[in-house]
Order: sequence, then C-alpha cells, then structure tokens
Amino acid sequence: MTKLVVGNWKMNGSRSLIEQMVETLKQEVLNPPLAQVAICPPFPLIPALESAVAQSSIGVGAQNVSNHLSGAYTGDVSVSMLKEFNVTYGIVGHSERRSYFGETDELVQQKVKILLEHGIRPIMCIGESLEQRESGEHEATVLYQLVEGLKDIAADQIAQCVIAYEPVWAIGTGKTATPEQANQMHQVIRTKLIELTSEESAKAIPILYGGSVKGSNAAELLNQSDIDGALVGGASLKPDDFCQIIRGAS
Ligand code: PEP
Repeated sequence: MTKLVVGNWKMNGSRSLIEQMVETLKQEVLNPPLAQVAICPPFPLIPALESAVAQSSIGVGAQNVSNHLSGAYTGDVSVSMLKEFNVTYGIVGHSERRSYFGETDELVQQKVKILLEHGIRPIMCIGESLEQRESGEHEATVLYQLVEGLKDIAADQIAQCVIAYEPVWAIGTGKTATPEQANQMHQVIRTKLIELTSEESAKAIPILYGGSVKGSNAAELLNQSDIDGALVGGASLKPDDFCQIIRGAS
C-alpha cells in the first residue's frame, strides 16, 4: 500500500507555518506524490490548512474530538465541526492525551466510534511505557489498548481505521524503537487485526510507527514489511525534515 505520513503538530504552529509547509510539500514531494500525506494542526489552524491544501493531495487531520455530538461541553470540538472543514483524519488516544488528560481506553473507544460514524478515519494511537517494555508486558499492553479501543466496533468499520504504534518511551525523546522492534510489534498488531476483521481487511489497515521519526531514520523504519507509514511529531514542524521523511517513504 502507499505509505501514509501524518504530521502531528501538537500545540505548535501558526498560519505562516501552514503556508510554508504546504508550499514546500507541493514543490518537494507531491509532484508526483511520494506518499499519502496529512497534517494535524491545532483546531484553530484547521480552516487555514483546509484552504492551503485545496488542489493538493494533502489531507487535513485533527488531534482530538469530543466523544459527545453537541451540547454543554466547554472547550470541546465536535465531529460535525470537523466535518465542516473537510477533516478526514482524527488522532485519538495519543499518549499525551492519555497521560496528561486522563483519557481512558473507554473514552478512546467512544471517540473512535464517533469519528467512524461520521466518515472520519481515526488514527488510534497505542503504545507501551518503558517500564512495561522492560518488564516484558509491551505486547500485552498494546494488544489490550487495541482491543479495548475497537470494542463493539463492526469489522467493516475497523477496516476504516488507521493504527499508530507509538512506544511512549520514544515520543519526543530522541529514542527510536529499532526497525526490528517496531516491525515485530506491527506484526503482533496485524495478527490481532486479522482476528478482529479478516486477513484481507487487516492487510489494508495502515499501521503507522511513531516516536522520534526523523529524516535520518525514516527510510529504514518505513522499509520494514509491516510499517505502513509514520506519525511524526517534532520533525513535522520543519518543512525540510518532514520532506526528508516523506522521501524515506517512497
Ligand atoms: C507524536 O507525538 O505522535 C510523536 C511521534 O512525536 P515525536 O515524533 O516528536 O516523537
């Protein structure tokens, strides 16, 4: 499958970075497209991104969504609001949301469901802590998050999801999982997805790797058999670095 490279800007960026990033991507890696590319900026920058990417293949993504449809939920953003701005991807269950905002697997499942019901592809993030890896619980942890996050969701809907394996110890730390460590976990995830859907569907679900992906390690990671793309934090804020990662995907 064509690799999918998604930039997660977290709480960074500006209108001018949107202009700069989109122009650079168009010139450097989208003619012809070397990968499927999407950017997930903070909510207030989504309209600027939507305008900037018109006539290009760049997708617009959000970093979060409310688990409610509308109402008295101060500070939340609903799925229908995202739809109005042609958002096609929604990150759910990022480890920063899980650890700083107390998001549980149950909440993650509700968000995955609400996005799917409105035709937005969830990018569901799962990953173990360093402690869990060192005690040998990494696979069990990741599979638990996967199964709980997709609980009560029909197989044909699961087939619309994107899964991002992001070991917590590799996010923003400069430490990257080795390509073999990452690929092995992707295979474990794929095997579970086969159980939850079918072999054919599971093979078509993109499983992204995230955690300190940069220009210098992207090609090696993205060349692995079960790594279908990358979810990129820090390096997605620098147009040249992001382009180099996308080149590594081709
Ligand atoms: C992320 O936030 O999803 C991420 C992978 O961050 P970084 O690339 O900065 O490690």
